Amino acid sequence: MGSTSVGPGLDALPLRDDLRGRLPYGAPQIDVPVRLNTNENSYPLPEPAALAVVAALALEVRQLNRYPDREFTALRTALATYLGHDLTADQVWAANGSNEVLLHLFQAFGGPGRTALGFTPAYSMHPNIAATSATAWVDGLRGAPSGQFDLTAESAAEQVARHDPDLVMLCSPNNPTGTALGLDVVTAVYDATDRAVVVVDEAYAEFARTGTASALTLLPGRERLVVTRTMSKAFALAGARLGYLAADPAVCDALRLVRLPYHLSSLTQAAALAAVRHAPDLLGSVQVLREQRDRIVTELAGLGLAPVPSDANFVLFGGLADPVATWQALLEHGVLVRDVGIPGHLRVTAGNPDETSAFLTALTRVLEETP
Ligand SMILES: *Cc1c(COP(=O)(O)O)cnc(C)c1O
Repeated sequence: MGSTSVGPGLDALPLRDDLRGRLPYGAPQIDVPVRLNTNENSYPLPEPAALAVVAALALEVRQLNRYPDREFTALRTALATYLGHDLTADQVWAANGSNEVLLHLFQAFGGPGRTALGFTPAYSMHPNIAATSATAWVDGLRGAPSGQFDLTAESAAEQVARHDPDLVMLCSPNNPTGTALGLDVVTAVYDATDRAVVVVDEAYAEFARTGTASALTLLPGRERLVVTRTMSKAFALAGARLGYLAADPAVCDALRLVRLPYHLSSLTQAAALAAVRHAPDLLGSVQVLREQRDRIVTELAGLGLAPVPSDANFVLFGGLADPVATWQALLEHGVLVRDVGIPGHLRVTAGNPDETSAFLTALTRVLEETP
């Protein structure tokens, strides 16, 4: 994974003690025909959007001698308009992927002596960013009578009240389980603390099933509530690295204290702005991906497996005797999925119809081959 050191290596360096023994984040980037392991959008940018991004970049290239707009005002304005809900530019923040947005939140509201609480299994980068920002992490528990990975308002609020964290991380639709949270969970968590910043990671919001409400609707009057989004998934722009959030303007002011100056390059701002202006075009793939997601849920159930209902562009499925062996066998059939470390389960991204068919065919064969 890392490079080969010519010296005594990492052990000899004055690395922070709390980083010793840690492994870098790494979903395998393996070159196989069907890559369904990191929830990317399978569809490249539609041509009109791609041309608009190229034109915007071409203009910026001629001004690269200058620092970018530190306040990325045009982009914040466009993102506020895209989000709707009467949001304004001063309620929007952005960074290089929502991972960097999350890092800013941890830098501003976490840190040494502070605690963040999340509900496992959820996005593995939440505890990871807690660790690198020296924020203590409390693994809250999911699991409710209604379902294996569900989180009830009552349970979530009780855990928040008990641990009294500085930051609460919610993820809706939840990665890796796929299901969105009811807004009752968000309000119960918010009301269970009078000081924690409550973050709802809505990276997959655009894929949610009809009738799923966004936590954006809860922002008015809740100055500690933060909703993060990304252009990496529905917008098919993972390579550009643009994540953003909506919150009270004071939260954005807090993040200004920790961001590096000019953290969003003029190329990133230009590409993202052109893409947001082509939102309807870019989001054109969302409906077909939702259909493939629902198709996976239906067909996996037909194979006798246990898919978890999904509001995202991926499906977690259980009922596997040996997920590591299944993962390997799928890879040998040219299909890369994700082992998220949940016993008996694997996660697969909904691809285009051909990729989804390739996955379903491969999995059917693998299940036949394995006694
Ligand atoms: C993919 C994903 C993100 C996106 O990260 P970026 O840094 O914006 O690419 C954020 N949160 C969750 C839960 C994700 O699965």
